[in-house]
Amino acid sequence: MKSLLNVLHLKKNYHDQKGETTAIEDVSFDVAQEEFISIVGPSGCGKSTLLSILAGLSTKSDGTFQFQKNKPQIGYMLQKDSLFPWRTILENCCLGLEINRSLNEDTKKRVIHLLDTYGLGDFKDQYPRALSGGMRQRAALIRTLAIDPDILLLDEPYSALDYQTRLALSDDVYHIIRKEKKTAIMVTHDLGEAISMSDRIIVLSKRPATIKKIYEIVIPNAKTPSERRKTKEFSIYYDQIWRDLDVHI
Ligand code: ADP
Ligand code: MG
Repeated sequence: MKSLLNVLHLKKNYHDQKGETTAIEDVSFDVAQEEFISIVGPSGCGKSTLLSILAGLSTKSDGTFQFQKNKPQIGYMLQKDSLFPWRTILENCCLGLEINRSLNEDTKKRVIHLLDTYGLGDFKDQYPRALSGGMRQRAALIRTLAIDPDILLLDEPYSALDYQTRLALSDDVYHIIRKEKKTAIMVTHDLGEAISMSDRIIVLSKRPATIKKIYEIVIPNAKTPSERRKTKEFSIYYDQIWRDLDVHI
């Protein structure tokens, strides 16, 4: 597959009253089109920092990152669904288009089509409070997809949800992202989630982040995240990566 994003020797220092904190020491990786990459690493190691830099919301201190595309559209989704309670689901999903000044009859139809396709058609005129946590997160994903992004940056997208909902939603999100042929980078602290959804997993060291290892996940006989979770490869990857994470309590 063609390369979409090249990250080279990225570094980030934060400056505040207490002085300088290096969040990211040196991170390099490439992302191919339609690839699903997960980033795992100890809490506070710089994962969110990395995504916010790629999203253009935070500045880097050194290194480069380059999209193989002019003015790439970036879909950025955070842990909390952050839907506005006073807007209907459809109005929420049209928000990115409004901000981009590209909301028109055609793009609105596209959003309605996405909502219909992914089981939220009947809820489009409802307000977020009428939806379950899982459905709200699915609506947030559709809002992110509405701008037709070249890449999705997902920062712990389901960590606020309960375990059962998370399992169901990862099948869901996986299916939607594949079907829409999107490229995604997902930060997660849930190793099972990462292994069940990704083509590759980037393991970061503790802060300041460097790349500890990159795993290519190959599980030939499983098509969905929940099928993957039942395979022996899944357990092997899990043990291996768990050891890399080197978690101490
Ligand atoms: P992660 O998402 O992996 O848990 P973060 O990227 O949020 O980690 O944070 C990495 C490090 O950078 C942490 O030590 C955090 O305290 C620090 N940090 C994050 N944001 C800021 C900021 N705006 N100013 C100063 N330090 C920050
Ligand atoms: Mg974070």
